[in-house]
Amino acid sequence: MDCDLLITGDLLIDPLSGFKGHGQIAISGKRIVAFGAASTQWNARQVLDTTGQIVCPGLIDLHVHAYEWVTNFGLPADDAGIHSGATTIVDQGSAGAWTVGGFKAHIADHAKTDVRSFVSANLAGALQGGMEGTTLHSPDMTRVDELVRVANEYPSFVKGIKSHAESGGLSHWGTTVLEMALVAANQADLPIYVHTGELFPVNEATRPSAETVLQKAVSLLRPGDTLAHVYSAMPDGIMGQSQSIPPAVFEALDKGIHFDIGYGLNFSYAIASRMLEAGILPHTISSDVHADFNGYHDDSKLDYSLCGVMTRLWSLGMALEDIIARTTYHSAQLIREENEIGTLAVGSRADITILDCEQGSWTLSDGQAETLTVDQRLIPAWVIRDGELIEPNQRLLRDVRHPLSTAGDG
Ligand SMILES: [Zn+2]
Repeated sequence: MDCDLLITGDLLIDPLSGFKGHGQIAISGKRIVAFGAASTQWNARQVLDTTGQIVCPGLIDLHVHAYEWVTNFGLPADDAGIHSGATTIVDQGSAGAWTVGGFKAHIADHAKTDVRSFVSANLAGALQGGMEGTTLHSPDMTRVDELVRVANEYPSFVKGIKSHAESGGLSHWGTTVLEMALVAANQADLPIYVHTGELFPVNEATRPSAETVLQKAVSLLRPGDTLAHVYSAMPDGIMGQSQSIPPAVFEALDKGIHFDIGYGLNFSYAIASRMLEAGILPHTISSDVHADFNGYHDDSKLDYSLCGVMTRLWSLGMALEDIIARTTYHSAQLIREENEIGTLAVGSRADITILDCEQGSWTLSDGQAETLTVDQRLIPAWVIRDGELIEPNQRLLRDVRHPLSTAGDG
């Protein structure tokens, strides 16, 4: 049998089938044509021996920011994508209905990475992050008909709607914007992804009490919608300042609402440990990588990455198979592409990530400047994107490439 690329290895992991172990993957053109333990004799144009590495479906980073120049915190899409080990990235709300066409034409269509968008509930998108939030993200800047229009215009690109449940917006206009986003999401048949944790300027006279913020979001969201930043330390976030798991967390899980990591600036080891101990796992794992807000096109301060988040969660006690499932198959389901990506199943698109698992001792910080010492780290050695073998440049992987202190094989 002929194929273009044959991958052999001793640790292939496919969450959909539950396969874990020694095996091979044959690729012809842009498709996986064989996968499993069987050692069929292939006549391959190219062979990649991955002994000692981890082979999994192409990683999907469900939360990045990649609208360079139009927002002041966008990263180059391929640096956040294939060059960080992710074959698919989902931009969360950088573009709104009036700017998403430009995001597709000028960024996504030129990237090697598969780039998708959760379009911001407001018309313009996130532009300057939370800046001018009370103007740009207000109900006056939200139009249901425009959200539905772009969802219909770009069905394979716009995969959901990004909205917020945080103290600033709630203090000014309650849940109006979130409710408008939900009307659009119902009409367009799309999931919603909701930011948590104070972001927009707060009207102190009408500041909601911190614990009611999550309750309000949970009461409105539907099964299959996602609450972001599940292990964040923000006082009005999902755990907030509570010592025990808030009842609204269990209510959300009962309702079929998902939690995403959205690592970002506010991730807390302490909260992650407490929630993991209570069995509150993220449904999906994403990085929320973005550039600096203080000047256009400056990512020199970025000190976290998807592989860094996976490395941290592994060290905090999550099982490797759980971590892989939540960066591949679960994320593919969330954007309704599980028949195409997020799995090694025969017939799927040949999007695959190959990770080095390095042993040593490294200290990694979280968003609260707390530190964690890990004894193994995950680094993308190869990605296969649409059948093409690519060596990631790892430019944005400084958290795992250059941690605070190194020992071992550094
Ligand atoms: Zn974000």
